[in-house]
Amino acid sequence: MNPDHPSVARAGTDLLDALAAAVERARSSELYRERLARVAVRRLEDFLALPLTTRADLQQAGVHGTRAVPLSEVCHYGESSGTSGTTNSVWLTRADLLRSARAIRAAHPDVFAAGRIILNRFPFMAAPAHLIELIAQEGGGVAIPAGNINWDVPFPRALELAHSTGAQVLAGLPLEPVILAELAAARGLDVARDLAVDALFLGGAALPPALQQRLARVWGARVIELYGSTETMLLGTSCARGTLHLETDLAHCELMPVGPGDEARLVVTTLGLEGSPLVRFDTGDVVRGGPPCRCGDPRPGLVVLGREADAIDLAGRRLFPYDVIDAGSAAADALDSAVFFVVVLDDRLLVRVEAGRGGGDPARAAEARLPGVRIEVERVAAGMLLDVEGLSRSPRVYKPVLVADWRRSGRRILTVDEGLIEWPRPTWAEGGRWLMRTLRTAARRRRLGRPRDLAPVGER
Ligand SMILES: [Zn+2]
Repeated sequence: MNPDHPSVARAGTDLLDALAAAVERARSSELYRERLARVAVRRLEDFLALPLTTRADLQQAGVHGTRAVPLSEVCHYGESSGTSGTTNSVWLTRADLLRSARAIRAAHPDVFAAGRIILNRFPFMAAPAHLIELIAQEGGGVAIPAGNINWDVPFPRALELAHSTGAQVLAGLPLEPVILAELAAARGLDVARDLAVDALFLGGAALPPALQQRLARVWGARVIELYGSTETMLLGTSCARGTLHLETDLAHCELMPVGPGDEARLVVTTLGLEGSPLVRFDTGDVVRGGPPCRCGDPRPGLVVLGREADAIDLAGRRLFPYDVIDAGSAAADALDSAVFFVVVLDDRLLVRVEAGRGGGDPARAAEARLPGVRIEVERVAAGMLLDVEGLSRSPRVYKPVLVADWRRSGRRILTVDEGLIEWPRPTWAEGGRWLMRTLRTAARRRRLGRPRDLAPVGER
């Protein structure tokens, strides 16, 4: 750990007390009972001598292993899925959820205020979906629960809701405003002009500057980054200057250097969780600490680069999802687009962009974000990467029915499945477009896979 880091430099009696209390709470769980049995935290050194808790430890602890309070005190269960498909279990009390919700509202009183409408597109299984509901219940606005994974609110319906209710806040994953803006454009709407959205509250995936700037411009809205995890709950949100400030009252963060650069792995001890407290939990996220923020908030700022497991080694460099998405977004923006897809090849990044009307130099824009990395930009036709028409016809979901009256007008249902979901029946024209897109994508995949295309630069 870097003792000069602000979150550590603050270590005084208050912090020591908070850490000792966290250790005490954690001792009540199966996971920590033995591990922390004879531990007393009197000095910071005592705390730093405690072993790290890994994701593997959480998995081994089992579904109830992290729970430190009786079930009667729990109100919420959450899971995170690891890259290997395994899951970690988290149990939260009402106070746990409230602490995160209140911290978000306190940091953004202008965004989450009485009377302001929040289109809540976070998936139902993800904790932020519930925090948004709580923020609204506490007086921080009017939440429209419209999770984007359950099909009862497909993208076109979400756009209609944002339009008809006059929603001011769109909360969800970073891709959400990209898709909704494309969908709106296909319907002749301009999201900046025709919607009332003035704040995008986004988390759950990399949100680098190029993407933030693009979204802010297209939506005419402020972008706020939300950072946290299922295991730790809220860790921070970004201020008006774009700095992601840590919620130091809820979590104690340590930065463990990885490699020679200023990158570090984030290790978290939860100060604000009773349900499933964690001591020195290795999040697996790689971050970079920042200088003090000029907004006046003394809490340290972080840049979240992404999971260490998702890092890409290319051209002698270590790239994180943050870097790759930043370059892809910059390339797309140069062509007045936000729709892109990045393919990592042996010798380069291939950025495929659904080009808009922009006349910039996309390769140069991308390379400015990633000096020394070879980047090829491929412009593709509208609809090749994101099929807005297909989205508009995504499956309709109905209340389950067990009886269908064929004598009436409407759907002639024969099975329980048909009663639940209606899959789109493409028209001949849509079928033709789908076929063309599939064939062209398959041809591109074949060409990219040829050895010639994989040859290092200079051997062509
Ligand atoms: Zn700030």
